[in-house]
Amino acid sequence: MLDSRIPEGPLAEKWSKHKGNIRLVNPANKRLIDIIVVGTGLAGSSTAASLAEMGYNVKAFCFQDSPRRAHSIAAQGGINAAKNYQNDGDSIYRLFYDTVKGGDYRSREANVHRLSEVSGSIIDQCVAQGVPFAREYGGLLDNRSFGGVQVSRTFYAKGQTGQQLLLGAYSALSRQISKGKVEMLNRHEMMEVVKVDGKARGIIARNLVTGEIERHSAHAVVLCTGGYGNVFYLSTNAMGSNVSAAWKAHKKGAFMANPCFTQIHPTCIPVSGHYQSKLTLMSESLRNDGRIWVPKKMEDVVAIRKGTKKPVDLSEGERDYYLERRYPAFGNLVPRDVASRAAKERCDAGFGVNETGAAVFLDFASAIVRYGKTEASIRNIIDPSHEDIVAMGKDVIKAKYGNLFDMYKQITDDNPYETPMKIYPAVHYTMGGLWVDYNLMTNVPGLFAAGEANFSDHGANRLGASALMQGLADGYFVLPYTIGDYLADDIRTGAISTDSPEFDAAEKSVVDDINALINNNGDTPVDDFHRRLGLIMWNKCGMSRNEKGLKEAISEIQELRKEFYAKVRIPGTADEFNPELEKASRVADFLELGEMMCLDALTRSESCGGHFREESQTEEGEALRDDLNFTYVSAWEFTGTPAEAKLHKEELEYKNIELKQRSYK
Ligand SMILES: Cc1cc2nc3c(=O)[nH]c(=O)nc-3n(C[C@H](O)[C@H](O)[C@H](O)COP(=O)(O)OP(=O)(O)OC[C@H]3O[C@@H](n4cnc5c(N)ncnc54)[C@H](O)[C@@H]3O)c2cc1C
Repeated sequence: MLDSRIPEGPLAEKWSKHKGNIRLVNPANKRLIDIIVVGTGLAGSSTAASLAEMGYNVKAFCFQDSPRRAHSIAAQGGINAAKNYQNDGDSIYRLFYDTVKGGDYRSREANVHRLSEVSGSIIDQCVAQGVPFAREYGGLLDNRSFGGVQVSRTFYAKGQTGQQLLLGAYSALSRQISKGKVEMLNRHEMMEVVKVDGKARGIIARNLVTGEIERHSAHAVVLCTGGYGNVFYLSTNAMGSNVSAAWKAHKKGAFMANPCFTQIHPTCIPVSGHYQSKLTLMSESLRNDGRIWVPKKMEDVVAIRKGTKKPVDLSEGERDYYLERRYPAFGNLVPRDVASRAAKERCDAGFGVNETGAAVFLDFASAIVRYGKTEASIRNIIDPSHEDIVAMGKDVIKAKYGNLFDMYKQITDDNPYETPMKIYPAVHYTMGGLWVDYNLMTNVPGLFAAGEANFSDHGANRLGASALMQGLADGYFVLPYTIGDYLADDIRTGAISTDSPEFDAAEKSVVDDINALINNNGDTPVDDFHRRLGLIMWNKCGMSRNEKGLKEAISEIQELRKEFYAKVRIPGTADEFNPELEKASRVADFLELGEMMCLDALTRSESCGGHFREESQTEEGEALRDDLNFTYVSAWEFTGTPAEAKLHKEELEYKNIELKQRSYK
């Protein structure tokens, strides 16, 4: 039933051949075709701008007041591309290899190779738009390293890469808005997909300012609605990030793929209290220069927690640089899943360095000295004092990571130039998402998904700086080709009417759901349920999972969902700006998704990447895959409730890369 439509032929030729062979829509006919793009983060803005530039009529939607406020703006560290500017041995094949290996051999070879092939064009496109990537002294674009690789291929704009890329995509989108080719509907939330004769033909949206329910039709619908990490309540995602658009599509027939594959990022500011609603990422780029450690001796741990010793009081010999110790080949730059689990292992063993015992140090002292010495050499300063070296080194660090250091200081009131940062893993990204074929179409004809909303390229663990690459690849370089293959059948269809029984029924179900929530008259705020769901997910479907915990989580979530519908209280009315109502319908979907994630995690009894099943580990505590039984994408079909979802398997074939147990030692 699942046809991934991967083209035949040698891996490196698949994409070119596919582009050469798929059907096209000629320029005049494109003007007869309407496309809805839901979401205008990096994936959506680039998709909407590119499709409009090609001549299609585009309607784009986002729930923020401007596309510029999409969660993509938060991306800090950078975007990968196989340009080999550093002459350090990078290539399209190596980016492909690193990404498949980093994803623990649970992604499609063909998709990942295409991603690597187009990565270089993304950088060219963004530079042409004026994105101010960091440059080296000579004017060439600079690169740094991210986890899981041994080359420097990450392009960046200080710690604001997502913001700068989004401004580039937004300017391309704005150009099309001003030409009238894109109609931009800000502050509109998609509430339902409308299917006519089995095809996606439109959406029902709610105007978030007036509460009005609107019908919008099109020949195809593209969901670029981001990831669902906020199912855990606490995550590094923007507060508004949610699963609702994808979940509504799922309930209308689109399969959810690998929903349990969640990325836990190792370098986040630790949780500080019960009433916290957001966690803050400290970019992975910091692991280029920061060294991660905990004290070797328990007495030092205790002293640091009590405040009778400071981390800087400990000599080198008293520190356990545990990543460098365990993984000498990659050191502090092991992939995120490996670094996160190693931090958890040290903290579970009692070596956590803050009051809660859930923190490790990220230390820049040696980088400051290293850079200071280089500066002294560049400036021809003979015999510089230690103070001068440190001062010069701090300036270099400031130039590289200044905004991240400021952010850390403002949040924690510690100065990371003087004392190590404290960090702990936190939920960050979801590799799972809507199942899509090679053309990025879901199994519902005419319904496409791009960016973090789909499952396509990252397998069980995404490498750093690869999400921006994938979102922009999808929007600038993949969908503009592949969507035509589907739309070629629609050149004579004419405009899709919104006056049909399918639109009537979809609108009615949206209105009924809203009325049920708003008239519930319970006494418990939405956040209470969300926080409790998050705790279940984190404790039982988080950094490590086991059969017993997952089964418990499933029944606890079912109970919580019942309680939600019995007790949730939403103030205000449905026909006004009502953020509590928005939150409630998103949390209602999280309460179903959470159960499905646990079910997916339960059925996958192997460990792989971000999915660590305690029952399946090596003697050294590393994730142990089971290639014989689990080399597949799990694609879930909704059949009434999450518990009854039906599992379909897309078998993964590795013809160009040998399946090996991952090693970063
Ligand atoms: C703190 C942080 C730092 C990161 N840093 C990096 C990095 O350095 N490099 C990297 O590669 N990746 C990074 N990532 C990951 C990356 O930022 C995201 O994966 C990526 O930006 C997602 O882009 P997107 O376009 O798919 O979704 P988003 O940017 O989340 O956009 C989603 C869009 O969908 C809209 N939307 C959602 N639901 C609806 C609905 N129902 N109706 C209407 N509109 C809707 C929203 O309004 C928004 O416009 C980082 C992530 C975080 C959290």
